[in-house]
Amino acid sequence: MYQHPSQLRIANVHRTFRMLLARGASSRAELARLNGLSPVTAGKVVEGMLEAGWIEEVESRGEGRPAIQDPGRMSSGSEESAAMGRPPRLVGLSSTIRFPVVEIGTQQTSVRTISLAEAAAADFDVPTHHGATFVRFPTPRSVAGFLSHLGRARDALGIGSSRAVLVSVPGVLGSDGREIVFSPNLRWTNGRELIERIEGLFAARVCAVQEIQALALGLLASGDGGQAGGTLGPSPDSFVLVDFGDGVGGAVVTGGQLLHGPQPLCGEIGHTGVYGNRRRCGCGAVGCLETLVSCRGVLQSFRTRWRKPKATWSDCARHIAAHGVEPWLAPSIDAAGTVIAGALNLVGAADLVLTGDLPSLHPEVLVAFERRVREHALVGRFARLTCHLAPRRRMLGLVAAAAGRILLPEPSLPVAEAS
Ligand SMILES: [Zn+2]
Repeated sequence: MYQHPSQLRIANVHRTFRMLLARGASSRAELARLNGLSPVTAGKVVEGMLEAGWIEEVESRGEGRPAIQDPGRMSSGSEESAAMGRPPRLVGLSSTIRFPVVEIGTQQTSVRTISLAEAAAADFDVPTHHGATFVRFPTPRSVAGFLSHLGRARDALGIGSSRAVLVSVPGVLGSDGREIVFSPNLRWTNGRELIERIEGLFAARVCAVQEIQALALGLLASGDGGQAGGTLGPSPDSFVLVDFGDGVGGAVVTGGQLLHGPQPLCGEIGHTGVYGNRRRCGCGAVGCLETLVSCRGVLQSFRTRWRKPKATWSDCARHIAAHGVEPWLAPSIDAAGTVIAGALNLVGAADLVLTGDLPSLHPEVLVAFERRVREHALVGRFARLTCHLAPRRRMLGLVAAAAGRILLPEPSLPVAEAS
């Protein structure tokens, strides 16, 4: 396929940006090798990105993030060091370009600002490390109430002008990313008003991503495959991700791309009915999986079993962490495993990634999931079926989405991937 040189240049910028997001700071030689570019071309791409301010020269690779193994050599950087007699100069994503990030949850909403450099750091999703740049409030029940809380958070964090506001939403997002089509647990967010008014409040474009799709994009962007057998492996490029939090949702990635259906309802696995379950769901149906294995669902089972109607999620989480999977919890995990196996059977994915609260509470939870999924997912009989437990990397996913949609120049022609 013929490609205009300017398109190739833009494709190289995107590729370099993604590489720095996944690896953290890197030398020009590493970027050239990993992107399959000549040193001269890679150097030009880096100079252009430095000029545009997207990246900066940095002293060290930074901490908290293991470099992704470079298959081309034993230890990255050592050859340059040896040849030049000094450490190679590194470039990393900008620490001065910052975005406000708004995570709308069904219970809590959090607001923070994040720099491109921070998005590439592994632990940034853990807000306790970043108290000074983080505000959380109970999600109000109206657009007006939400906007007034958000305005106060913006002022408290001293958020000034920025090119984009990154927003994750729990509801189903329309294909133009500007309309919340249906949010079962936050029906007041339905429609276009919320995103328009957030844009007005920050005087910046909103890059909105459905919250579970943001996790899948984060996993893709990180290059980590989660903890499969206790080791960080390379990211699979086709997987089903299921997240357990206030709700239960899924995302499907095939060939490195999020799967989108003809309707924007792809991934709503939490609303699959479970036979015999009589609990009423926020979506209006009875018996949805979400009512069993979301935090609220697990807590309801805990309260019933131990006759503690006032128990909190912390009480319940502590109990599971201490006792593992007991008979009161096992049927809910079995139900989830069976539903997830159905998703794997349908899309033929051999990698299942679990994120969020329930799978992280005790190692037995992942084992119980895996047992049930293996029992019913046919792919496991013909190929390796892997269950990964992965950390949530929503910040990274949102930044990766914003880079592609807003920040970097958009390729106007289809661009072939370098091998
Ligand atoms: Zn439902």
